[in-house]
Amino acid sequence: MPDTRTVRDYIRTIVDFPHEGILFRDVTTLFADPRGFRIAVDQLLHPSAGLRIDKVAGLEARGFIVGGAMAHQLSVGFVPIRKKGKLPGATISEAYQLEYGEAVMELHDDAIEPGERVLLVDDLLATGGTASAGINLLERLGAEVVGCAFIIDLPELGGRKVLEAKGMEVHALCA
Ligand code: 5GP
Repeated sequence: MPDTRTVRDYIRTIVDFPHEGILFRDVTTLFADPRGFRIAVDQLLHPSAGLRIDKVAGLEARGFIVGGAMAHQLSVGFVPIRKKGKLPGATISEAYQLEYGEAVMELHDDAIEPGERVLLVDDLLATGGTASAGINLLERLGAEVVGCAFIIDLPELGGRKVLEAKGMEVHALCA
């Protein structure tokens, strides 16, 4: 019998994490499965077939896991976009709004050469705030962000519209 499970089938939902009332999409079960991880990475790369990509940028933290595998597959470099205070070198930073308060993402100021074509990746798109901060950081260093890839899109939170309004190509594997 062929295995017909899709990426969605490997992701579990944890009730009331990290707060009561939140349904957290847990991708560790996808990453832990050899077939699940393989098909997720392959599908995240599908829209990039034939395109010139110079780097993959991953958003902390689960974007590092898929982004590293994607960069390896493409034989290009990987760039981490991290939460404030984690990167050791000189950084540029972007603040963005959370439901309560503000967060800051950072990028090493020498991580990108002007004109490089970069694919941005994370596990999940919700409001689009995190990815927008990542795009702004990359563009400030002169990158051309050729697309944004996510395993999960939560369409009711509007992130895709936010990114498309910035002119981004958005690719997600499941909702
Ligand atoms: P946004 O900035 O689009 O509102 O939120 C997306 C960020 O929050 C991503 O970095 C993602 O990892 C994280 N996130 C928010 N909710 C979930 C969730 O239910 N599951 C996972 N795996 N990540 C989440």
